[in-house]
Amino acid sequence: MELLKNKIIEEGKVLSDTVLKVDSFLNHQVDPKLMKQVGEEFANKFKRAGITKILTIESSGIAPATMTGLELEVPVIFARKRKSLTLTDHLYSAEVYSFTKKVSNEISVSKDFLHEDDVVLVMDDFLANGQAALGLLEIAKQAKATVVGVGIVIEKGFQSGGKQLRDKGIRVESLAIVESLSDGTVTFKEEARI
Ligand code: 5GP
Repeated sequence: MELLKNKIIEEGKVLSDTVLKVDSFLNHQVDPKLMKQVGEEFANKFKRAGITKILTIESSGIAPATMTGLELEVPVIFARKRKSLTLTDHLYSAEVYSFTKKVSNEISVSKDFLHEDDVVLVMDDFLANGQAALGLLEIAKQAKATVVGVGIVIEKGFQSGGKQLRDKGIRVESLAIVESLSDGTVTFKEEARI
């Protein structure tokens, strides 16, 4: 996706060989026009998949997932990282190790919103080692829902998540695949249809 790639080049900050900061349009401030296009791209890719729910994780997955949900006209569920007092034991939950924060979180989703007859698109802002996506897949599995794919805004192709998911036969669609962050420079993977 050209607009996204340009935005990453212009505004992304390479914090290390493994971490890309995109606080100005995705992770802190959100660019609604860009998110609208992100939503249209995902909706276009998955429009024939019969999706009934989008499942993401708070907080940075919410903006792209919501715009995709708007296009596909389906609800968006975000897994919570902290158990709220109003969410009790009526939950699906999974353990997720955060690549950026280096802590483990138990993520959870109310059983009210995800069911056996749901057809789910899992989404997130970044794909690194796949922990967040695997946690969301585990939650969908507990609900006995069908997962048709994983939609990622920015995949870091040099980390293991993409391969792990694709090796499981899961359809992974990423709008930009970063091949390297070496020497403070963002290099995109050539083959990506972006
Ligand atoms: P994973 O679970 O695939 O290892 O990592 C994905 C999660 O970690 C995403 O939810 C995202 O918030 C965060 N993350 C991983 N790598 C990066 C990165 O380079 N930049 C930012 N901003 N977030 C990242």
